[in-house]
Amino acid sequence: METRTNLTRSGEPIPPGYQQLWEYSSPLIAIHSFGHQIMRALQLVARVDPKQVNFTVVKELGENNNYTGYFYDTSDGGNGAAEAVFKHLPKLAGAARAIARDCNCDTGCAKCLIQHGCPDGNTALLKQMGLLLLDAIASGRSETIASTGT
Ligand SMILES: [Zn+2]
Ligand SMILES: [Zn+2]
Repeated sequence: METRTNLTRSGEPIPPGYQQLWEYSSPLIAIHSFGHQIMRALQLVARVDPKQVNFTVVKELGENNNYTGYFYDTSDGGNGAAEAVFKHLPKLAGAARAIARDCNCDTGCAKCLIQHGCPDGNTALLKQMGLLLLDAIASGRSETIASTGT
């Protein structure tokens, strides 16, 4: 992958944040970051209580390193919040893209990427990788990346 090659060739120390690229697979980082960025848009734009919806990444069984992101309701029986995320995904992706782009940080910060209560401990996150997916979904080029589950 291109970013990795460029960083290696430059001979410079790896900036903090980008080290994720060595520790985790890029599809995992992309999907996980994307989920967090969508959650941020939910909280800021749709005013959804952060405690109502959560997001996790599940590795698919099989040979190819496929990951699926799941938005899920955190209350008993579900409150439909995760379903709403799925319905409005392109719109949310557009909002999330704007939030991430407008943020002054480099690789992601508490304002645009880190989520309290992340079941995966806020690992494997990189702002730019999430932005790739947000871009694709906001512009309607991909709809198969995230699923809902309760
Ligand atoms: Zn930020
Ligand atoms: Zn997470």
